[in-house]
Amino acid sequence: MKYSFFTLALIATLIVPFTSCKKDNLETSPSEYVFTAEELAEINENFCSTMDENDFLGHDHESENSMVDDRGTGWKGKFWPAGQVLRVRFMNGSSALQTKVLNYAKTWSTYANVSFVKVTSGTSEIRVKFGTSGNNSFVGTDNLGISSSAQTMNLQLTDESPEINIRRAALHEFGHALGLMHEHQNPYVNISWDKPKVYAYYYETQGWSQQMVDKNVLNKLAFEPTQHTTFDIASIMAYSIPASLTTNGYSIPWNTELSTTDKEFIGKMYSGTRIKVRHAANISADITFHLNGISTTLKKNESILAPAKTTGNTLQIWECPNGCQWSSFYPTYGKKYKIVSASNNPNDLKLVED
Ligand SMILES: [Zn+2]
Repeated sequence: MKYSFFTLALIATLIVPFTSCKKDNLETSPSEYVFTAEELAEINENFCSTMDENDFLGHDHESENSMVDDRGTGWKGKFWPAGQVLRVRFMNGSSALQTKVLNYAKTWSTYANVSFVKVTSGTSEIRVKFGTSGNNSFVGTDNLGISSSAQTMNLQLTDESPEINIRRAALHEFGHALGLMHEHQNPYVNISWDKPKVYAYYYETQGWSQQMVDKNVLNKLAFEPTQHTTFDIASIMAYSIPASLTTNGYSIPWNTELSTTDKEFIGKMYSGTRIKVRHAANISADITFHLNGISTTLKKNESILAPAKTTGNTLQIWECPNGCQWSSFYPTYGKKYKIVSASNNPNDLKLVED
């Protein structure tokens, strides 16, 4: 069909933030690194981990696997509805610190049709606790599955924390609360890791086993559960990567502001301007399409309301009728579409009105 190649290679490099708090269950001790107390303090105040629903329910330490297994899923399905008002209850902390955190969280509302309001009682979707167990948060609508008496977000911040750390942690964790995952897990990412050093670094700084590092740092998210842009090195959801952890000197600093792509992406994910697309092709494989700067992957028979523009939409489908290619189609906002197979070749995909 029409071939406009989209550079799958766009993904050049990568990312990452990571985080966490668990220092037990050590299985290996590959450490060759010795960090200074200052380095460790800086690292620990910036790291973060997303949580799944088992994590605050009293089994912190059996959750090494469940935490990482589930953390990458659901980007596609865990965003709140457009216009959602998220009620935030702080479980401790000074009012000054609470105000700072909430104001940083509200930065997201500048770019997305979602808002945060502070409550002190009654129903809340997000419950924040300041403590020493690291920075972490449940992702998007997973917050609804947490007991109303339990925290959904932990911030390792105090009144003495540097302002830049408060800003980064609040923006990052509330990004998770809105449905965002770690940018270093972007399916398109491609980092030349120096794996022995990565294992040593995370063992030394976070106490992570090689298995945890594989799942939390080195492995990418699968396409199917996620919706994503190409890799954004400037994302607040990216972790810092020291150049010493890559084989080519690639590095990422601690990002402390929302990137241009963060703002655009969250705006699109909370926009009501969408085009419905359904996987109706005669193949069992997932189908990935690219629309309005966002890649989405559908399982067979799955449909989704994908963020779109009101005019001038180009939808590219990754298909492999012979060789693989991106094929372009031009859907109209206000209509519904399905991806189907050509009659003579099920792998020859096209977009038609549904
Ligand atoms: Zn995080």
